Amino acid sequence: MLRRWVVSFINPSHTNRTFHTSKLLRTAQIIDGKKIAGDILNEVKQSVESWVQAGNRRPKLVAILVGHNPASKTYVSNKVKAAKSVGIDSETILCSTDITQVSLVERIQSYNTDPSIDGILVQLPLPKGLDEKKICHSISPSKDVDGFHSENIGNLSSDKSGIIPATALGVRELIVRTKIDTFGKNAVVIGRSKHVGLPIALLLHADGNGETGALDMTTTICHRHTSHMDLQKFTLLADVLVAAAGVPGLITKEMVKPGACVIDVGITRVKDAQGKFKLTGDVDFNGVKEIAGFITPVPGGVGPMTVAILMKNTLFAAQHNPKRT
Ligand code: NAD
Repeated sequence: MLRRWVVSFINPSHTNRTFHTSKLLRTAQIIDGKKIAGDILNEVKQSVESWVQAGNRRPKLVAILVGHNPASKTYVSNKVKAAKSVGIDSETILCSTDITQVSLVERIQSYNTDPSIDGILVQLPLPKGLDEKKICHSISPSKDVDGFHSENIGNLSSDKSGIIPATALGVRELIVRTKIDTFGKNAVVIGRSKHVGLPIALLLHADGNGETGALDMTTTICHRHTSHMDLQKFTLLADVLVAAAGVPGLITKEMVKPGACVIDVGITRVKDAQGKFKLTGDVDFNGVKEIAGFITPVPGGVGPMTVAILMKNTLFAAQHNPKRT
């Protein structure tokens, strides 16, 4: 692992020739998710242009937004902007909060059979009364660019090529493009949700010789029923620590192995001292950056990666179903 060391000599006013006290201070390298996501978007843009120049239709993404959740509106608008920036066509479908499960599934099924559409996503969370699992499973696996369908999770679990959940693949790309050493090392993932924690753990632990580009790490999954004392025992072993719990400040510097790579997936809206809302991660960034070798910020770490990978997944969906017109 690359490390940046800053040498600072305490008591600089000392005048004799012997240094009585010296201390090594280290600060983590900040992994710039915005920059890496920008690189991925450029790569996707080039691939989209080659795909279109080869005579194929421009890929198209449909984003379904149910209700008026302001955070969801922002996420969808970011995805639509990203699509435009890479030359992917997109359409946002707005549905009112009182849409029934049956009507929403019927709409999704009409997009499943529409040959002009390559990717479909439903922005989560959905309003009460709609069953997220059933809605996500109504999307055709070949158009499921979020990678949440059990066929896609099944492919990931069996080391088979397919659509990989965007946040998980984004975490992998951050680690790989930062050239973090992973082979045979220890990883700890905090959070076991089917959309985020579990697919991250699958990608970290699996065989790198499979089709998913997994990282061969010895991987532990912790969750809300892991006692805090046990949590620290596990996290202190982690060469790569991924926090995906949605609990601000859960990871403090006492819980981090010196030099570890800390990836903060958590995003929670909290009020600051002035009463303004800000986004915060699961990691106490200022404390942990003194111990870690690498760390992602929130915002500007995993968030932009999720959007960039979604574009990569949309292109993947188009290229793996070339018969769509
Ligand atoms: P979730 O609520 O479905 O799952 C949270 C997981 O964390 C659960 O498995 C739970 O057992 C575990 N957990 C909760 N409290 C814990 C604790 N004290 N100790 C250990 N484990 C604990 O949430 P999710 O959908 O998996 O999302 C997790 C976080 O990631 C949220 O903050 C969400 O906003 C964020 N997120 C970020 C991105 C991104 O692009 N950066 C994408 C998706 C989700």
